[in-house]
Amino acid sequence: MKLYDITLPISEDLPVWPDDPSIKLSLAFDLSKGDAANVTEIQMSVHTGTHIDAPRHFIPEGLAVDQLPLDGLIGLCRVVDLLHLKISIDRVDLEPLDLGGLTRILFKTQNSLKEGYRKQPFQSDYIALSTQAAEYLKNAGVQLIGIDAFSIEAYENIGHATHHLLLENNIIIIEGLDLKDVPAGDYELIALPIKLKDADGAPTRVVLRELSA
Ligand SMILES: [Zn+2]
Repeated sequence: MKLYDITLPISEDLPVWPDDPSIKLSLAFDLSKGDAANVTEIQMSVHTGTHIDAPRHFIPEGLAVDQLPLDGLIGLCRVVDLLHLKISIDRVDLEPLDLGGLTRILFKTQNSLKEGYRKQPFQSDYIALSTQAAEYLKNAGVQLIGIDAFSIEAYENIGHATHHLLLENNIIIIEGLDLKDVPAGDYELIALPIKLKDADGAPTRVVLRELSA
């Protein structure tokens, strides 16, 4: 079955959230300089590139990324095409969708098509999920939401109401997906965050597998 890697490559070119640590990848040991091996050192926020937000991102006693049950991160998932949207994902955009009891949903928007999503500088005019839309998904029983933006929430949403609503209900958020080449439809999702103890999030390799016919 075909696999889609929907993870953004991490490099120093990738946009980072304003004021977050910048991405640094450098060789601590370098074969070309006579060292015995190449050893890369990395420095970055855990919210870099394709990553999972654990409840602890906004809730002090919330689940940390290493405490997330793996069975929520692997399983049936729907990619929803919202390429027609220009500003945000609102409740009215979701109501016509038949989620059919699916608990994992990924939103493909124009963000995935933009060159500025893959290269610095960071662009704040991405398409995000409104708090009302998040509430609708919570009430529909959704337990994992992914989006092709560095935040699921609009840049100007000062109180982080969307993050709070989702994370207080232990709904897993995947941010920074690359859905450019993935057709809408149902897949098996495999999203495995690095097991960082007690962390509020982690870089995550995210793969979709076509379902067998
Ligand atoms: Zn995040």
